[in-house]
Amino acid sequence: MAEIILRNVSKIFKDEEVISDLNLTIRDGSFTVLVGPSGCGKSTTLRMIAGLEKQSSGEIWIGDQLVNDTPPGKRNIAMVFQNYALYPTMTVRGNIEFGLINKKVPKLEREELIKEISEIVGLTDYLNKKPQQLSGGQRQRVALARAMVKKPKVFILDEPLSNLDAKLRGQMRTELIQLHKRLGTTFIYVTHDQVEAMSMGDEIVILNKGEIQQKDSPMNVYHDPNNIFTANFIGTPA
Ligand code: ADP
Ligand code: MG
Repeated sequence: MAEIILRNVSKIFKDEEVISDLNLTIRDGSFTVLVGPSGCGKSTTLRMIAGLEKQSSGEIWIGDQLVNDTPPGKRNIAMVFQNYALYPTMTVRGNIEFGLINKKVPKLEREELIKEISEIVGLTDYLNKKPQQLSGGQRQRVALARAMVKKPKVFILDEPLSNLDAKLRGQMRTELIQLHKRLGTTFIYVTHDQVEAMSMGDEIVILNKGEIQQKDSPMNVYHDPNNIFTANFIGTPA
């Protein structure tokens, strides 16, 4: 079980409150999309869930564990960013393997994991290449593979497709949805693109100025927006 619960979570940077008393339950196994305009607090929310940023107040629960004081490496969460953050001097294999070596996973097990995961993301033929020899989509797959070999309970993806061209972005959306179905793991996906949100999420969380406007299925968000912000943002006809 890896339901995630945020209870009265706030975040203050200097004297500005960027997240205000957030209450949110992310269903175990869901594909939850956090969507909202630039600067509304999406990345900050993800970073607090992953433990990369400490909330100013409130509680974060992962499964039945209160993780307020749990370091990122012990939260069983893997994060994928838009800029991939691959090691340029290492091969694809090296990039995927690095975290496993750090975790002292034995060599045989590492090799099996790399084989399994590179097949899933279609990188089998690219394991000996360097990142600069790959296309944007392939680099993003390496970033995904690196997250997947850790077999996390939760995947957090922060605008992972925004550096890709429109065609590839469409293809990767489909691949990510299939990946989610296959793994059954909780995905929390951030985007500022409402079309992307509506086409990918089974649960949509609309955020504005650090506050949740609505949390609902795509159908309900579209047909039954809670307020004017949601209606305008999603584009519900008046
Ligand atoms: P989003 O991901 O939705 O674009 P962010 O979570 O990155 O938004 O940022 C929310 C707000 O918090 C913004 O006003 C941003 O400038 C501010 N912010 C984010 N990180 C920091 C930081 N480390 N120090 C100060 N302000 C920050
Ligand atoms: Mg962001």
